[in-house]
Amino acid sequence: MKIQVTKQAAAKFLSGYPLVQEEDIQKLPADFPKDWVEFADSSGRFIAYGYLAKQNKGIGWLLSWKEAITAAFFEGIFQEAKEARQSFSYDDNTSAYRLINGEGDGLGGLTVDRYNEFAVFSWYNETIYAYREIIVDSFREVFGEIDGAYEKIRFSGKGLPESQHLFGKEAKEPLLVTENGVTYATYLNEGLMTGIFLDQKEVRSELINGYAVGESVLNMFSYTGAFSVAAAMGGSSETTSVDLAKRSYGKTTEQFEVNQLPLESQRIVVMDVFEYFKYAKRKELTYDCIVLDPPSFARNKKKVFTVAKNYGELIEQSIDILSDKGSIIASTNAANISLGRFKKIVIEALEAKNVSYKIDKIYQLPADFKVNPQFPEGSYLKVLFLSVEK
Ligand code: SAH
Repeated sequence: MKIQVTKQAAAKFLSGYPLVQEEDIQKLPADFPKDWVEFADSSGRFIAYGYLAKQNKGIGWLLSWKEAITAAFFEGIFQEAKEARQSFSYDDNTSAYRLINGEGDGLGGLTVDRYNEFAVFSWYNETIYAYREIIVDSFREVFGEIDGAYEKIRFSGKGLPESQHLFGKEAKEPLLVTENGVTYATYLNEGLMTGIFLDQKEVRSELINGYAVGESVLNMFSYTGAFSVAAAMGGSSETTSVDLAKRSYGKTTEQFEVNQLPLESQRIVVMDVFEYFKYAKRKELTYDCIVLDPPSFARNKKKVFTVAKNYGELIEQSIDILSDKGSIIASTNAANISLGRFKKIVIEALEAKNVSYKIDKIYQLPADFKVNPQFPEGSYLKVLFLSVEK
């Protein structure tokens, strides 16, 4: 099927921009075809092959500006992605990392992560999922060393589970992976999440290398406590992990245990972070280093948390329970907030609290989470390391 795009859209697509928006299409088909389509300009001249699909962002992706989309095309993408990650494959200290980062590797709609000899596929829409067989076969041609895989269905697929086994061997539960020499317990077939967010490896690495050595660390929105484990490995004197999900208690305990870290100096609290701020103030608790890593959007009881509206509040509350000379690691994965805007939100809150501060470091996505230079909005992660003096 040929899909004609507007003049404006033709210009950006010809220069390599991969994401299709509704307003780019001249005449939107009533139902999106489950086939590859040919995008063309208003005079019918070919631009690229790709597909249409309902998904979180946009309505489709351009994939190939030259050759048709065949097994050979996918093998080419996978081969190139593999070469780009050679340094990871040779690193004995890290066994979990991203192999395919969607549009960053030229394949909008699919990510693949490696966990030891296993792969986890995440499908973001129904159209790409319809090509699952040819894609998985091509993947296996290139990544022969992967001998088992799971898949996550990240679109509302009728009758499909969130997670299931895809091929080959089944992984142990937990599956112990390593990252910069630290062990993490992961579960490859438990809902959409595995126990570790691989995009935060450089932040964990800073902590392992002693960013908070000798310090007390408060890890807010701690999930399985990965930042706390990294901090404890890096010599932090004590850690407190706060998350409102009940699962976080057992999951976090397990992460410490698999690293033989003594639990006496680690506190794990199942609580809303805003309640914990109040509790800590009442008890006059203070922390040398506070890590903030909220979800980009969350609803708890009556409160809705968004980065634009509430991140400043998190910073201000943190200042109240920070040591006189402390640090804050402020992270967000909200794609709709640019680095500049995020800095502004954080700095305004620091200024409102009248503290002096310095941005020590800024991290964005690590190299395995490859970003398409034509699609900078794919670079969603922003992490500020701040020294603060009250
Ligand atoms: N920092 C973690 C990932 C955080 S994921 C890591 O690096 O592994 C976001 C977490 O925030 C989830 O575990 C969720 O349960 C938790 N969460 C969401 N809203 C919360 C709230 N109001 N208080 C405490 N935890 C919250």
